[in-house]
Amino acid sequence: MVRILFTKTHKLKNQKMKKLLLFFLTLLLIFSCSKEKVDLIVINSNTYTVNTNFDTAAAFAVKNGVFVAVGKNAEITGKYEADVLVDAKKQTIVPGLIDAHCHFYRMGLQQQKVSLEGTKSYDEVLQKLVDFQKEKNTSFITGRGWDQNDWELKEFPTKEKLDVLFPILPVAIGRVDGHALLVNQAAIDLAGITKKTKISGGEIILKDGEMTGVLIDAAMRFITPPKTSKKAAIQGLLDAEKISFSYGLTTVDDAGLDRSTIELIDSLQQAGSLKMRVYAMVSGDKQTQIDYYINKGKIKTDRLNVRSFKIYGDGALGSRGAAMRASYSDRENHFGAFMYPPERYQEIAKQIAASDYQMNTHAIGDSTNSWMLKTYKDVLKDSKNRRWRIEHAQIIPEEDFNNFDNILPSVQPTHATSDMYWAGKRIGKKRMKGAYAFKDLLKKYGKIALGTDFPVEQVNPFLTFYAATIRKDLDSYPKDGFQMENALTREETLKGMTIWAAYSNFEEKEKGSIEVGKFADFVILNQDIMTVKGNRIPKTTAISTYLNGEKVY
Ligand SMILES: [Zn+2]
Repeated sequence: MVRILFTKTHKLKNQKMKKLLLFFLTLLLIFSCSKEKVDLIVINSNTYTVNTNFDTAAAFAVKNGVFVAVGKNAEITGKYEADVLVDAKKQTIVPGLIDAHCHFYRMGLQQQKVSLEGTKSYDEVLQKLVDFQKEKNTSFITGRGWDQNDWELKEFPTKEKLDVLFPILPVAIGRVDGHALLVNQAAIDLAGITKKTKISGGEIILKDGEMTGVLIDAAMRFITPPKTSKKAAIQGLLDAEKISFSYGLTTVDDAGLDRSTIELIDSLQQAGSLKMRVYAMVSGDKQTQIDYYINKGKIKTDRLNVRSFKIYGDGALGSRGAAMRASYSDRENHFGAFMYPPERYQEIAKQIAASDYQMNTHAIGDSTNSWMLKTYKDVLKDSKNRRWRIEHAQIIPEEDFNNFDNILPSVQPTHATSDMYWAGKRIGKKRMKGAYAFKDLLKKYGKIALGTDFPVEQVNPFLTFYAATIRKDLDSYPKDGFQMENALTREETLKGMTIWAAYSNFEEKEKGSIEVGKFADFVILNQDIMTVKGNRIPKTTAISTYLNGEKVY
């Protein structure tokens, strides 16, 4: 009885088992044959992942905007399939580039102004104005960059020809240094000034008793071009994005934005019309704006990060506005100046320290750097994770380098090669030792964030790479490089433009390297920037740029 019973159940069980086995076998077959579907696969590349080991990889897979696998060609193609397969043909790929300090919005607005830098005659200036207006059709032509010292006739221009070309449309174009403005009669009429208008701290230049259209310093303030319209602001952002994508940038740190612009960026991103990732430093020039954002708290989406303030410490070295501890070497008894009284910085730092915001201060002169480092230290104590930044960190007194142990340097290598011709004259040999000292700064903090400050410098991040590593201008001057003890290695430079810049934005977990789980932001380059001959680095271009796995250039 027992045995029979057993065989019966055994038979039954056997049938069930067989069915189950068949089921699992089919399942196994399905799994082993079909590959996981992803959105994009890139193969045959020379990818610098910029992970902790600085590994290279040949292939990677992207799904839902993030990297899901990085490895060898066979590993990726064996496991994944995608409708979009990119054969990189051995080209170099790096993580999407981050500009840690730029003026993205301002650069965009500049596209709607005429650029007159390098013009060789007044007639060339006039021709540029005509061409510009034909293309942009603005209601008030503004621009900047003419310099009569570059012309054959080294005198200030007069407005006669301008009035003939533009009898109704107002025109106001600034001299290269921003201290003189050439305007036409339409702009003068709009401003309501005459040759008899009184001004102090400036001048209305006359010739034979008549206005020439040239206004100096305070007189320039009578001319107020119309406020930027919302349409122009949007166009500016889109123009800036297009230019930035063409250079492989996928994140920009805009160093100083007002609430209205931040909100405009957010709304355009939400609507999908602006794709660029923006680290928006809130402009700290208005107390109400500081209060507003501290009260509101951090704002974070996949494309927008608002958690920092940009504060101005001083001016620039070129115009001797940077605050120095001792007199300028090329102007006696001139020290430059802080933007605010010193106590104001302590007040701001205290307020920001009590919030979870980051403080990023523009500091060029040694006095400003020294004061800001001390001010930061007083409120932060030894905390490193607040990641407060000194923007530019241009001239550092020797004894202050140590203060960068927990304060993050954010520098622009092209400033070094732009300023190197005259900086030594301006501040003298001794102070130059601590100027543009990127390597010394890196050694103290262990990381350094790199940017351009565009549109002050060019947008092109490969010029940053060249200036940081080779420290020469595009004519290979100086022969041995400028203060080469402070050159960065190529690996350090690439990190400064990717993972360390991401760190400076508290975003190193989501971007800055090509690793599983991070946003699929990457650039395909025309040459291997890590091995190409130094003088060839400026020839680097982006072949295509991907943001969130989407081809944006
Ligand atoms: Zn700046």
